[in-house]
Amino acid sequence: MPEIKIHLLRCGTISLSHDALFGGKTGLVSTLRGAAAPLTDRVPLPCYCYLIEHPKGLILVDAGVGRAFSPSGVFDAKASASLIGAPLTAYLHPSVENGMSISEQLSRRGLKSEDLDLVLLTHLDADHVGGLHELRGAKRFLLSEDEYYWSCRAVYKLRQPCALWMDMPIERFWYRGSPLGTNRWAYDLFDDESVMLINLPGHTDGLCAVMVRNGGRFALLASDAALCRENLETRTPPGFYFDRELGKKALAYLCSLHAESGCEAILLSHDRHETRETISL
Ligand SMILES: [Zn+2]
Repeated sequence: MPEIKIHLLRCGTISLSHDALFGGKTGLVSTLRGAAAPLTDRVPLPCYCYLIEHPKGLILVDAGVGRAFSPSGVFDAKASASLIGAPLTAYLHPSVENGMSISEQLSRRGLKSEDLDLVLLTHLDADHVGGLHELRGAKRFLLSEDEYYWSCRAVYKLRQPCALWMDMPIERFWYRGSPLGTNRWAYDLFDDESVMLINLPGHTDGLCAVMVRNGGRFALLASDAALCRENLETRTPPGFYFDRELGKKALAYLCSLHAESGCEAILLSHDRHETRETISL
């Protein structure tokens, strides 16, 4: 297959409490503590989207924090709260610098939403779909059926305000039996194993990691299966997980893939140490 390019686009910033990032407990008390944490006890994290130039089409993975959250390019509590409510705004502290929202970055590359053959959503958390409305006009939007189905859980209603995504024409896919993933569930996007959508539950139920393969090499866009590389190094799931035990399995799975000889990259959506701009396969 001809070369596949994956461009890393940093579309905003969230600032999570130290506990939310490094092994804090999952649950209401720790969530409230995370929302109340002062900025001095928070770690700023990038929000990455990925633009994949694939021979079968132009694919965007996730939409980052949208311009509407941050009209002036800095954290705007009022604007953000109008979209996702004050508690989630306090927890995430989202912002997007001027020129860095997804539509602004596409425009800089000479692209419009209409040029995107597919917008793939790894999950429905606000920091991944916040820019979705900027992408109206893209040819297709795709999400796992499991992620959509479980968005009815009370905890996801807080994390995934449906005003950000419910009115968009999102198709859903079913995972199928596969040797890949902790659940042994994956979906072969083009039926040629070049883009495998792999279920790695833990952060959310339906979380989709994207494995891009060419020849014997692959890169995994792991979404929030880990929030930062320290989670992988210490095998400690972040506190911002729905199911901690499944999260630990996902971390172990990422480590096993990382050790494979064809692994070019394991990319985490909020890796603050990431410096790569493009990966070619
Ligand atoms: Zn995230």
